[in-house]
Amino acid sequence: MSVPELLAPAGTMEKLRAALHYGADAVYLGLTGFSLRAKAGNFTSATLRDALAVVHEAGKKAYLTINIFPHNSDIAPIERHITELKELTPDAVPDAVIISDIGVFDMIRTLIPDIPIHVSTQANITNYRAARMWEHLGAKRLVLSRELTIDEIRQIRDAVTIELECFVHGSICISYSGRCYLSSFLANRGANKGLCTNSCRWSYQLMEEKRPGEYMPVYENSRGAYILSPRDLCMVDYLDKLAGAGVDSFKIEGRTKGVNYVSGITKIYREAIDALATAPYKINNTWRKELEMFSNRGFTTGMYLGRHPDADYSYDETHAATDYVIAGVVKAVSSRGATVLLKGNLAVGDEIVFLSSSTHNGSFIIKELKDAEGEPIAAARNEDIILMEVPDGVKKNDVVRRRV
Ligand code: SF4
Repeated sequence: MSVPELLAPAGTMEKLRAALHYGADAVYLGLTGFSLRAKAGNFTSATLRDALAVVHEAGKKAYLTINIFPHNSDIAPIERHITELKELTPDAVPDAVIISDIGVFDMIRTLIPDIPIHVSTQANITNYRAARMWEHLGAKRLVLSRELTIDEIRQIRDAVTIELECFVHGSICISYSGRCYLSSFLANRGANKGLCTNSCRWSYQLMEEKRPGEYMPVYENSRGAYILSPRDLCMVDYLDKLAGAGVDSFKIEGRTKGVNYVSGITKIYREAIDALATAPYKINNTWRKELEMFSNRGFTTGMYLGRHPDADYSYDETHAATDYVIAGVVKAVSSRGATVLLKGNLAVGDEIVFLSSSTHNGSFIIKELKDAEGEPIAAARNEDIILMEVPDGVKKNDVVRRRV
């Protein structure tokens, strides 16, 4: 079985480096203003250049999202940005541009015809005729709708020869991916402009028309009712089925998630995708347990295996649950131990784990901490540099996580 690409989110430069460090074959990133994750941090034209240089130096690929649904007033600024892409040096050109709107597709084909185009999941490709049409138009890859079953993906595979990509992990919408007005309606922030407030994750209450201001709680459980919030997608146990259906690229959702999340989820899917090289696919039971250690709302297989059962909605959790937060990043490893740049406070007695791509380390309690000069200390703060003993296999750029 051919091994699909692992495509990870890169909302910022730090997340981009983390994704590459933990084994992503490619990253996707957005330009401020034109990507569906306006809150992701995103890149400016200047920082995009640096980001693409880092990716290409690592021998990996970067795909640039221009996947908002533009209105007339957005067209001229998008045209300017596409023109700017044309002026980048060859090593700083993205490996593809991800679009949703056919007008943007046309602009790119006209202004910068050599750049490959991927059609975003926001375009909602749900059938082989749509897939074939995009192929005729010249798309290089289709990011299939998240609302498809694996059998439907196989049928699309049989109808086209271009690359197919699908999401394997992360948040999903209660609507057809992104085609949702909830956030615009309730918060005046349009999901299709990249400004979604995740209104589907809010806790809702009931108010009777004649009693304004009297909010009657609706309980699913003692914490309230999250009637619109689906669980997160997790396909780690079914990657062989998706690869067998002809998917070329597995995508992790989450450009607005933190470095901790991007590191851990990329690491686990790297291991899982590597395991596809040897048939039959051998699922490692630790993957799912490790995935649960990163923020999530409980897991579902989405529509891939058929319709969502009701149990796949997360009625009782509005915030993604997580046991661990990022504590620091290893900057160097020597005979003295690891030099760690802290990203939060850390103290003797804290329980930590090293997220190491080369080894599965369990957590342990810190018995001793040292400052950068090697003097013992009881605690250290965000942005301090500390020295600490580390298990074998820990290396530069590994993330340190603290149990909360
Ligand atoms: S409000 Fe929820 S369902 Fe709607 S676009 Fe945002 S995340 Fe998706």
